[in-house]
Amino acid sequence: MQSLRFTALEGLAGVDSKITEHNGKITEVFGSNVFAGRIVREYLSDEAYKSLMNSIKNGTKLERKMAEQIASGMKAWAMKKGVTHYSHWFQPLTGTTAEKHDSFFTLKSDGSALETFDGDALVQQEPDASSFPNGGLRATFEARGYTAWDPSSPAFILEQGYGKTLCIPTIFVAYTGESLDYKAPLLKALAAIDKAAVDVCNYFDKNVTKITPTLGWEQEYFLVDENLANARPDLILCGRTVVGHAPSKGQQLEDHYFGAIPERAYAYMRDFEEESYKLGIPLRTRHNEVAPSQFECAPIFEEVNIAVDHNSLLMDVMNKVAKRHKLKVLLHEKPFAGINGSGKHNNWSMATDTGVNLLAPGKTPKTNLMFLTFFVNTIKAVHDYADLLRACIASPSNDFRLGANEAPPAIISVFSGKYLYEVLQEVKTRVNNKFDEQDEAILKLDLHRHIPELMLDNTDRNRTSPFAFTGNKFEFRAVGSSANCASAMTVLNSIVAKTLTDFKTEVDGLIEKGEKKEIAIMQTLRKYIVDSEKILFEGDGYSEEWEKEAEKRGLENIKTTPKALDAFLTKKAAQLFAEVGVYNEKELHARHEILLEDYVKKVQIEARVIGDLATNTILPSAISYLNELITNIKGLKEIGLGEENVKAQKQIANKISEHINVISENVQAMIEARKVANKLTDSRQKAIDYCEKIKPYFDVIRYHSDKLEFLVDDKKWALPKYRELLFLR
Ligand code: ADP
Ligand code: MG
Repeated sequence: MQSLRFTALEGLAGVDSKITEHNGKITEVFGSNVFAGRIVREYLSDEAYKSLMNSIKNGTKLERKMAEQIASGMKAWAMKKGVTHYSHWFQPLTGTTAEKHDSFFTLKSDGSALETFDGDALVQQEPDASSFPNGGLRATFEARGYTAWDPSSPAFILEQGYGKTLCIPTIFVAYTGESLDYKAPLLKALAAIDKAAVDVCNYFDKNVTKITPTLGWEQEYFLVDENLANARPDLILCGRTVVGHAPSKGQQLEDHYFGAIPERAYAYMRDFEEESYKLGIPLRTRHNEVAPSQFECAPIFEEVNIAVDHNSLLMDVMNKVAKRHKLKVLLHEKPFAGINGSGKHNNWSMATDTGVNLLAPGKTPKTNLMFLTFFVNTIKAVHDYADLLRACIASPSNDFRLGANEAPPAIISVFSGKYLYEVLQEVKTRVNNKFDEQDEAILKLDLHRHIPELMLDNTDRNRTSPFAFTGNKFEFRAVGSSANCASAMTVLNSIVAKTLTDFKTEVDGLIEKGEKKEIAIMQTLRKYIVDSEKILFEGDGYSEEWEKEAEKRGLENIKTTPKALDAFLTKKAAQLFAEVGVYNEKELHARHEILLEDYVKKVQIEARVIGDLATNTILPSAISYLNELITNIKGLKEIGLGEENVKAQKQIANKISEHINVISENVQAMIEARKVANKLTDSRQKAIDYCEKIKPYFDVIRYHSDKLEFLVDDKKWALPKYRELLFLR
């Protein structure tokens, strides 16, 4: 029987990249499946509308009566659009989204049919959620958790073919109140930063009453033909290739980056964009990325909460639409060794309700001081809690990416850009305790003089920094492509909230002592700059020198997840999260536990896949070819040819059998190592064992397998090769 590889390769010729016809105007479909804006206005009474808006804006609790009205309005809208079912939609810690569909349909006591959706169904549900990760927060016998409506994220209709479901974004919490998902802690962090940032902002502008952090993510991904992917069990089960010889041509020509988008990918993009527009996801850009078959899309930034939901939704949409195009979308951070990985840059800033971006340099000395305040506080937050930032992006898949081929290293640092770096230096050297009126004036003018230059300085883009200032926002680049942004956003907003709160306390202290407000602010900023200076790095983050320099500066370089996660268990973290009201200690421990479990499970699955592939796919191909060689050698000898004539065959046979032996031995040893690790009861130790004792076998097995791939007759090799996965369309 022909292997899947060759069937898939034959199939490629017949693929047609049909570009579906779409409504030409995006504005006409945008948001058509979202219960927001004009639609809400249309379906709700004045009273219900006002109370919903109030709840969205100020987080006020909705009265029951209003919930009834809103539910009924939503149902009317949804049914008109052909919806039959509704679902509470949430983001459990499995990393995917969860839906449990219920029908509007019910029976009355007389047996007649009715369609209902009441306030209770909207506001709260109790999914049978016993098998979502909970880190020990719920013993299975009382596996009760509930989902609660989050009115700040609008309901939407998810279409699957002709099926349509009304999805209600919810948070997922245990009956005892602890968060079990990504969203609940995020909402708490957003509330904390709102309060802290408004307090600080009021030093400069009393009119500001609300601050909304903003997020614009950039989603990188790979596309692979579905049939080829199906012939690679590793892609299907692990999302990445665990073996594969480097192709003769890789990304060295850089001919894919920003090149013309291949037709098949283009057809796919248009379709998932169309689905996204209906859901109100404001996708704006699409382009090829550096690696062959790698692409990126990015939306216009939104409030963090909405942006997080939209990214989760987008990943689902991308997966679903890919099937229609017989493609597989790879969201893994490192699907191919030796080739660029995928990230999800999180562009982040804060916006006031008066329409000001707090991280955009201003035009007057006063607004510049406000900018500088938020800028420096963010740097200080990153400095003080670098370990948490490292932890919140830690995952087994991101471990493969950080620090390899064009991805930021595991060392957390901040890139400020040349001009702002100079401004910071100037504040540091010129602000002092005997700060007089004249200095104050000079300093402000200096800042003013420098900052407009920054606006021209868009070329000064350091792409190697994990956390870079890019003109009017910070870009957190270490986030992995498959991650839920909520994880990074919860930590970032929490640490900035805490830093701003402490900042206000210090400044108020100086003001109470009789210092002028601006001077108190300047002096505190100076102190913060000095305190956090070591986190600033303007050079090449990919270089070896930086690793050394960072070590000298005392910056951590934690390369693996199990150890990076320790940051969640420090006293400092517990204090921080308690203070900002995001996690209590129990929740932190639970999360830590869940993340470790996730790590172990994923590495365990990879280990099994590698063992399987080696044993029943790679070795049989090699042995089969080896047998052919042996037959050939014997045959040549039979017809009377001497050693000279079988030299090459013998050499190849010799190499192949060596690789076979090494693979076989290492697969055995890896299985034994797993048995030892599996007996460990301490989950941290178990994760470390998986990382340090089991994962190293992956590289050894891979090395020898890739050698075999090179040596063995191409026709006998069952797994699609890198050149096929990456270059064929
Ligand atoms: P690139 O980084 O690829 O050059 P851009 O800088 O244009 O691209 O934007 C990247 C992302 O940053 C986009 O999603 C954009 O909407 C987002 N962005 C721009 N301004 C802000 C902001 N103030 N807050 C958050 N995200 C922003
Ligand atoms: Mg960017």
